[in-house]
Amino acid sequence: MENMHCLRCNRELETGHKSVALYMFAQTVGIRPRQKSTAHRISFCPQCAVSLAMGPPPEGALNMAAWDMIRDLVGSDPALNHAAWEDLSGVPASLPATGTNGVPRSAPAGGYFEF
Ligand SMILES: [Zn+2]
Repeated sequence: MENMHCLRCNRELETGHKSVALYMFAQTVGIRPRQKSTAHRISFCPQCAVSLAMGPPPEGALNMAAWDMIRDLVGSDPALNHAAWEDLSGVPASLPATGTNGVPRSAPAGGYFEF
């Protein structure tokens, strides 16, 4: 199995990871014999897909077509958005606890400046 990378941030997308795949191939029309190029797969991680869709339209007709497709996905169901947020919230959870979670910040200000 080839490892896919996000086209935008180059993050490795392991098998089973959530991602958005764009398939592209070229085909001749009205020309005999009919020719078809190999299909290429372009992948984006959920965060990049969502952030691309929320961002301004890119330059270039091909980029624009891809942008439209990604916007279509992001706009038609919140699942992709959720996947992007899931990933973000999963990062801090995997780090070792620092002990600062849940500590009330209401201690007197002076207490923090005793060296
Ligand atoms: Zn990415």
